[in-house]
Amino acid sequence: MYRTHNCGELRISDVNKKVKLSGWVQKTRKLGGMTFIDLRDRYGITQLVFNDETDAELSEKAQKIGREFVISISGTVTEREAKNKDLPTGDIEITVNELNILSKSEVPPFTIENETDGGEEIRLKYRYLDLRRPAVQKGIILRHKMAQEIRNFLSNKGFLEIETPFLIKSTPEGARDFVVPSRMSEGKFYALPQSPQVFKQLLMIGGYDKYFQITKCFRDEDFRADRQPEFTQIDCEMSFVEREDVLTTFEEMTKHLFKTVKNIDFADAFPRISYDKAIEEYGSDKPDIRFEMKIHDISNSAKGKGFKVFDDAEYVGAVCAEGLAGYSRKQLDKLIDWVKRPQIGAKGLVYVKYNKDGSFKSSVDKFYSPEDIKEWANILSAKPGDLILVMSGKRKETLTQLGELRLEMADRLNLRDKNKFAPLWIVDFPLFEKDEETGQLHAMHHPFTSPKQEDVVLLDTDPEAVKADAYDLVINGNEIGGGSVRIYNTEMQKVMFKHLGFTEKEAEEQFGFLMNAFKYGAPPHAGIAFGFDRWVALFNGSDSIRDVMAFPKNNAGRDLMIDAPSEIDEQQLKDLRLKIVRE
Ligand code: ASP
Repeated sequence: MYRTHNCGELRISDVNKKVKLSGWVQKTRKLGGMTFIDLRDRYGITQLVFNDETDAELSEKAQKIGREFVISISGTVTEREAKNKDLPTGDIEITVNELNILSKSEVPPFTIENETDGGEEIRLKYRYLDLRRPAVQKGIILRHKMAQEIRNFLSNKGFLEIETPFLIKSTPEGARDFVVPSRMSEGKFYALPQSPQVFKQLLMIGGYDKYFQITKCFRDEDFRADRQPEFTQIDCEMSFVEREDVLTTFEEMTKHLFKTVKNIDFADAFPRISYDKAIEEYGSDKPDIRFEMKIHDISNSAKGKGFKVFDDAEYVGAVCAEGLAGYSRKQLDKLIDWVKRPQIGAKGLVYVKYNKDGSFKSSVDKFYSPEDIKEWANILSAKPGDLILVMSGKRKETLTQLGELRLEMADRLNLRDKNKFAPLWIVDFPLFEKDEETGQLHAMHHPFTSPKQEDVVLLDTDPEAVKADAYDLVINGNEIGGGSVRIYNTEMQKVMFKHLGFTEKEAEEQFGFLMNAFKYGAPPHAGIAFGFDRWVALFNGSDSIRDVMAFPKNNAGRDLMIDAPSEIDEQQLKDLRLKIVRE
């Protein structure tokens, strides 16, 4: 028997018990005739003590044990003299009478502690060691708990968890597919699913009514930001439902998760904001509404006063950073550099200091009287002491830049508290977005998303004005989920494919099976998918989804531990009838 208890379990009430513990050695130290070992497992740390005088042989053995050795011990639970209030087991220690080394360890390449000295590269290379750190374990355990709560909630609502295949044909989520060559069918390839989208729709046609799956999806995208080539979705679909049914069900699931995992109650319904309004007021379709600082259109007031930059602009907008009128020249110059960075791409920034004494000082004083500027301050509900920041240019572009600036200023003002959560729904997305270069329309969500019924008449005349019956769940500026009411008849699906530039033949080749299925009685259906990794990261207070995945890849999509992707041998290539052409 290796253990009677784990390393996080024993308390003062266990004093005098004979116990066995097993775990990893966090550290060994000698102090005043005693030798101490901190023994660790995923449940906690327990202090072991060896008396150098009364049991010299055992103490010597203990002193030779290095970090990360795996040992098992027998001993007696004893009350500690110097208690450690920071440890749940800090009132006791184990006086050891038997010690076995189960596994030796080389000196680990970084310290296995929350505040480790190891950089990300080395921690990913030795991920199994990184996984031993309590801070990492916390995220992995939280992930389990969330998955469990999701399964409970959805199963109780009558959803069935059904697996869908990984070796499939391309799914249209707008990214590049990962492909797998087929040995049996020469020259042919499977694609890995970007999502189970078509399968969940086919399950609805198959009569399964309510489906969910916590599953891997694969997208071969450039590794911008915090992306992983494989990630996990909570994928859901329901039959005989309208948008309202989906939003209600999954708002309830979201509240259930907040309650059971974070002990946070949301009494009110989540706000719902249209896509257009989100762009207009927050410059983003995933607004962070933990704070206000809305964007305001000051075009009417700013144009026509002889300032060419604004006069020539399609749009002039501003945000008000509360209390920052004291910004120095240097701070303002730095902020101007910040908006000009390629990631933001603005041409410039106009500022107005609304001084505490009620006067204004702006970078455009030459063109605007204090009365003119007062008008802007009124539109923005600015108060003395605030800093108004103005940008101009093409409408959508400028709004996006103002949206970025809004987040930056909120960071500086500490308005983005990680312990505060502000969920909302974004609804009424455009059905299409246009490729500015080619003019081709693309599905903003995916090709199976239904236009809003009242907009169907516009499909032929003004497709860009058509709104989709699509929705996103956004929390704290993160898109946590997205879905839509689906098209469920062949004719409408054909119209959609036509707008997306598919010829009938192409549509037939790629999605013939779905169009065919629609011919045999398709129920109205709708669904949603949540980015599970992102959601766990958010609840864990992590900035990166890598923190909550057991075996993540690095920023370049490589698994540094197993060294993948890697070459395959000649024979494998031969079997697959593949040849590598090196440029
Ligand atoms: N398949 C979609 C996605 O991965 C979600 C959905 O429409 O249900 O974004």
